[in-house]
Amino acid sequence: MMDTSAGPPSAQGLLHGKTVMITGASSGIGAASAELFAREGARVVLTARREDRLREVVARIEAAGGRAVAVVADVTRAEDMRAAVRTAVGTFGGLHAAFNNAGWTSTGTPMHLMRDDEYDRIMDVNARGVWNAMRAQIPVMLEHGGSIVNTSSVAGVRATGASSPYIAAKHAVIGLSRAAADEYVRHRIRVNALAVGSTRTELMDQVLSDTPALFAPFTERAIQQRLADPVEIAQTAAWLCSDRSSFTTGAVIPVDGGWTAR
Ligand code: NAP
Repeated sequence: MMDTSAGPPSAQGLLHGKTVMITGASSGIGAASAELFAREGARVVLTARREDRLREVVARIEAAGGRAVAVVADVTRAEDMRAAVRTAVGTFGGLHAAFNNAGWTSTGTPMHLMRDDEYDRIMDVNARGVWNAMRAQIPVMLEHGGSIVNTSSVAGVRATGASSPYIAAKHAVIGLSRAAADEYVRHRIRVNALAVGSTRTELMDQVLSDTPALFAPFTERAIQQRLADPVEIAQTAAWLCSDRSSFTTGAVIPVDGGWTAR
């Protein structure tokens, strides 16, 4: 992975003075984002289920002079998301932005053979997780506004070859993002979604190990014909969480090496 932790937090950083909550911060895109956001001056609240991995990310951020707190939380549980928001407010005094990024999928099972509980799990983590997170975050942003970024996928705009519940769930993430952007504009809350393309993370390693045939469609179709490094996704999330994207809301931003352009 590219080095995202070099250098102390910047007073001129994109996210200076902001508190940002990140779900799925224990690995991959979420962990890279936590380190980048902290380097850009944010105080970060990291959530995921694996406490040891969260603590490692917090330790790296603190060693670089940043401020971070970990909250063990499952995005499928509404109360866990509310507890993470309470920690943000209790530790850092508020919440200005959120990157709702936790996700999970399986691959390789055709729709007619897939078990209902697999469908439920994929929908719960990817779609209900964003629902739970936003419903916990929005109440503390109503007074002063904020920016929410939800992780969708190229599978949120196309049938990519990923599993059908994942494609449905990532389409739902875009629908929830647009609806929230429209509902909360008068509270100055912006909501956007990322259409993330193939990125080298634990999730992608698992997908490609389960279904190696997906490597070609996932990479060769893209203009850039490679996997992204997680920090390349984090850079766009940082911009969307920042005030520099002030006229961008209800948008689906492709970060996909040109996958959807072809
Ligand atoms: P990853 O390294 O496997 O990260 C997934 C993160 O989600 C982990 O931190 C994991 O933490 C967390 N998570 C999973 N289930 C959770 C749950 N029930 N509650 C709380 N946290 C949970 O994979 P990644 O690629 O960085 O994935 C990040 C996001 O990008 C996902 O939404 C994924 O769908 C999306 N995405 C990835 C790609 C890609 O090519 N990698 C492409 C398009 C979209 P714990 O296991 O510790 O809970």
